Amino acid sequence: MATNDLPNQARAVIVGGGVIGCSTAYHLAKLGWDDVVLVERKQIGSGTTWHAAGLITTLRDTEAQTRLAQYSLKLYSDLEAETGQATGFINCGSVQMAMSDDKAEEMRRGCAMARTFGVENQEISPAEVKELFPLAYVDDLVAGFYFPDDGRVNPADVAQALAKGARQRGVKIFEDTAVTDVLYENNRAVGVRTDKGEITAEVVVLCPGMWGREVGLTAGVDVPLQAAEHYYLISEPIEGVHNQLPILRDPGRGTYAREEAGKIMLGFFEPVAAPWGVDGIPKNFCFDEIQPDWERMEPHIELGMQRLPILLETGIRQFFCGPESFTPDHNYLMGRAPFKENLFVACGFNSLGILSGGGAGSIMAQWITDGVQPMDIWDVDIRRIQPCQNNKSFIVDRTVESLGIAYQMHWPNRQWETARNVKQSVLHDRLAAAGACFGESMGWERPNWYATPGQKPEYEYDFGRQNWFENNREEHLVVRNAVGVFEQSSFAKLLVQGPDAERVLNRVATADVSVPVGKVVYTQFLNVRGGVEADLTITRLADDRYLVVTAAFTQTHVTAWISENIPTDAFCILTDVTGAYAMLNVQGPNSRALLSAISSADFANESFRFGTMRNIEIGYQNAMAVRISYTGELGYELYIPTEMALPVYDQLISAGEEFGLKHCGYHTLNTLRIEKAYREWAHDMGPLETLLEAGLGFTASWDKPGGFIGREALLEQKDAGPLKSRLVQFLLDDAEPVLTHNEPILRDGQRVGYTLSSGYAHTLGGCAAMGYVNCDSGVTAEFINSGQYEIEQANRIYSAKASLKPLYDPTSERTRS
Ligand SMILES: Cc1cc2nc3c(=O)[nH]c(=O)nc-3n(C[C@H](O)[C@H](O)[C@H](O)COP(=O)(O)OP(=O)(O)OC[C@H]3O[C@@H](n4cnc5c(N)ncnc54)[C@H](O)[C@@H]3O)c2cc1C
Repeated sequence: MATNDLPNQARAVIVGGGVIGCSTAYHLAKLGWDDVVLVERKQIGSGTTWHAAGLITTLRDTEAQTRLAQYSLKLYSDLEAETGQATGFINCGSVQMAMSDDKAEEMRRGCAMARTFGVENQEISPAEVKELFPLAYVDDLVAGFYFPDDGRVNPADVAQALAKGARQRGVKIFEDTAVTDVLYENNRAVGVRTDKGEITAEVVVLCPGMWGREVGLTAGVDVPLQAAEHYYLISEPIEGVHNQLPILRDPGRGTYAREEAGKIMLGFFEPVAAPWGVDGIPKNFCFDEIQPDWERMEPHIELGMQRLPILLETGIRQFFCGPESFTPDHNYLMGRAPFKENLFVACGFNSLGILSGGGAGSIMAQWITDGVQPMDIWDVDIRRIQPCQNNKSFIVDRTVESLGIAYQMHWPNRQWETARNVKQSVLHDRLAAAGACFGESMGWERPNWYATPGQKPEYEYDFGRQNWFENNREEHLVVRNAVGVFEQSSFAKLLVQGPDAERVLNRVATADVSVPVGKVVYTQFLNVRGGVEADLTITRLADDRYLVVTAAFTQTHVTAWISENIPTDAFCILTDVTGAYAMLNVQGPNSRALLSAISSADFANESFRFGTMRNIEIGYQNAMAVRISYTGELGYELYIPTEMALPVYDQLISAGEEFGLKHCGYHTLNTLRIEKAYREWAHDMGPLETLLEAGLGFTASWDKPGGFIGREALLEQKDAGPLKSRLVQFLLDDAEPVLTHNEPILRDGQRVGYTLSSGYAHTLGGCAAMGYVNCDSGVTAEFINSGQYEIEQANRIYSAKASLKPLYDPTSERTRS
């Protein structure tokens, strides 16, 4: 029973009593939080949770999401014994079906990866699918994939069991109590205002499901999500249908099926979805349903029923439509809210909230308790979000596409088709005219590759070499042999200014930023555990002014990280100047000659060293030229006032022909940097991998006054003996295959890790990848060099070279020449 006396004080207040809020409350209590209050505007489970289908399938796209699902599966099977409240858990297993060779390939890749995380699975024939689910039509299948440990639950019971478990550990739950505001002192959350009174608290956790955007707006946090119609139907009873039948997942038809009390439940992930509640979720929503749109859904119903033809003869007892929330990239929104202290968010579960809920609550509770995330969950971290993604029209339009995405092909480099052209650089039309095929990152349209004359700048997806492979090869080699220009205006640019700017940055950055004006510093930000939170460059523009440059997708995180680490007594101002500068990155051995042809500045090696910046003139325009490289070649990043970018670009292009200049896209930046083993944050290292494990210890200034965040943890790790995990570069011996990522790495036949970034190393002549090699007794250079390596991809095994040093230009002569 819910309690009535709302306290005016608690240690933690959780907003929302769906599966996520209840799980967070349960896990906080389990970690010893003895004064937790959960407030729910209506009743426990009355939002989206109560009507979910309850599939707990553990094959997910990333390690983090797989681990959350595995944890939930175990928790839900144990919860009844602990709380006395059943969760309806049935270990019926699941089967995913592939109707095409491409889907089978995707599944084989995913299954190999999942086995690395302990998700048992096996490929089965269509006939074996039929044995497991005799009513299934299997003649159109290429293969099936069986996950014996998967299961299903009754979601309403899961929420109740978690709530009961939480209450048993002292959590107070208040139903019919709506939070109207988050209370702040400066930017520190100090409690909530509800329609029944205020509660002060040390920590506020927002778990409001599809109300997330709305609640976020009142709390001053971008929580971009949108509800959409989400359907399943339940048939009349069917003979032979029992609860041990596995869940069938049928991506080719955008459906899933499972038993439901002797009937079939058939659920839908239609490719074009219908956003719902665009003008706001009805105020009194409580265990409500949405009126189904039969006409829209009819073709999907028919297609889905063909998998279980008996459904075409059996009546439909119920056609159910409930709302579920979807996010701009189909990943959850979890973690500590940026720019706020003591405020956490967990919502936007994209129809995966039940299977992720147990794990998500556990992660949230550990994060809140320790102040650091217990695993790398960057793909679902709310700090990846940018304000433009919270634009109403954007999120509504994107939701049309995002519901169905889970059941579609997960092609490498797949691009979103909806809600495009949010941000364009001023050079956009010029780049389009040059043949750019644009991809999207954080709203920016960015050239990924350039089509040749007569070729359409459009992706043809494939698991092997895609249609831009040759374009990429040409672009890659032009940077190695002549000069290429990359348009990188999307990079985030932050000015850190004031008398205390140096002190602030020295504390957050591993490197020493007490450098002469004009020096560029490559550095990382670390968390207190020594894990890498950011990878960026800092250029000293003046005694009291620095320019921080970081990748577009880290803009919010890096901005928040710096701003949260400016002490209250510091005179230091942080300003985002991303839109003020376009950026053209001119890279390759001819870059010096090309820039010398259009600028009077002295680009000679002795006067303009690697790792320095000069203010230069190009025609009537000004630019900052920063000599650094993410390609492994001599090169210069030009930061140009936006209003001057077009004329600079035009001068560069017209002078470029003589030097062999070509436009190059982000795919080429990627293949070049992977060939040179340059790391990319979030791909090759993240909050969990330490600076040392990532092989970036050289950036640390160990003895600078005041140290840096994470230093002590790194020193401890250094003292503890050889690292147990180290980032290694791999190069396949076979020139043909293309790796993507998440492929298991084998050393002497044993799995020791999996690949992260990968790209075709056109100079080295094969696909290169990076990944951590793990070994409890230590990963020394001797250990790396004495092993035989293989990379596994969809049941195929490729031999590979492994190296701790970059396989391309290991001494970086080319960048410094
Ligand atoms: C048809 C359908 C089938 C699904 N099938 C599956 C499945 O098989 N497997 C799976 O994993 N997932 C499935 N899902 C998705 C899953 O149901 C959701 O992801 C999950 O329930 C989300 O949980 P939540 O706690 O975030 O949201 P909710 O359950 O909506 O909980 C949020 C709660 O916050 C409360 N709240 C909001 N604002 C306030 C406020 N201001 N003050 C106080 N309280 C507030 C709401 O009343 C609500 O109870 C399905 C969803 C649908 C619609």
